Amino acid sequence: VGDVNIDLVVVGYSQVPQPGQEVFVDNMMMHVGGGAALFSLSLAKLGLGVAFNGVLGDDSNGSFIREQFAQYGIDTSLIQTSKTHQTGISIAFNPDTDRSFLSYMGSNQELALERLDLEQIAQGRHVHLTGYRGRDNHDQFLAIVKQLKEKGVTLSCDVGWDDSGEWYEGIFELMRHVDVFLMNETEALHYTRRERIADSLALMADHGGHIVVKLGSDGAVAMKDGVMTRHPAFKVEAVDTTGAGDSFNAGYLYGFIQGFDVETSLKFGNACGAMSVGAYGGSTGTADLNGLRAFLQRHEGSRS
Ligand code: ADP
Repeated sequence: VGDVNIDLVVVGYSQVPQPGQEVFVDNMMMHVGGGAALFSLSLAKLGLGVAFNGVLGDDSNGSFIREQFAQYGIDTSLIQTSKTHQTGISIAFNPDTDRSFLSYMGSNQELALERLDLEQIAQGRHVHLTGYRGRDNHDQFLAIVKQLKEKGVTLSCDVGWDDSGEWYEGIFELMRHVDVFLMNETEALHYTRRERIADSLALMADHGGHIVVKLGSDGAVAMKDGVMTRHPAFKVEAVDTTGAGDSFNAGYLYGFIQGFDVETSLKFGNACGAMSVGAYGGSTGTADLNGLRAFLQRHEGSRS
């Protein structure tokens, strides 16, 4: 459940053009983007049945995204079509390092938690929720988590945060209610109000739950039942870091859903993250299960 948009990846030019400037770039690529959409694509490629729930515009970009979903067998029947907003577009400059974005949320603005069809969503076995915004929507988000749990599904959640986001201690309550709680290093530091990741992890471990923190080129760490497990990243040349976290989530949660142990799930997550950063586009680098296994065979022993 969450965002979907078009990602335009600008290759070979690192800045947003100045007023009055026309810039010719080496290459500009169009891909499906948005955290929940990239997660869905990567998970579907691994062979699980996926239904995406989000809002698209009634336009050619929306059709392009639907076609991409269909190509990977993703169920699009829960997608709503906006009558007022176009499909969102995000332009990413400098995709391999410190990216800059120009983003239009578009139809994603209409994804309202209160309008989610929980009966339909709970037909699945596992629900991955995105879009938590701290104090802003905490009560509503937690209520939906509780209702879905009561309907018998397992739940994971990846929180977002940007500079405008307000710190909110309620996040610890949410962590206890979902089966797997995922975040990146910046989000972990923000939500625990710590400066060092070790302190942040220690605080979260005290609160319990099954928490996974993605550490970029340092791999990832998971805490479950008071046990902390680390797994280093795989060594790859990063060309586009867009979607690394969402691809990681697909690998990790594939492991969780299949009943793998934490160590193996981290390995799957790091492999999907590394495959994602090794190619332009948020999920174009990730592969099916055979491709993932082949990647692991090539890279085991070459972790960074
Ligand atoms: P997010 O994209 O959410 O900010 P990260 O940057 O931590 O998350 O990346 C998610 C995962 O992708 C990491 O945990 C790691 O597995 C993988 N990853 C990210 N950057 C690299 C890299 N340079 N080399 C190898 N793997 C990477």
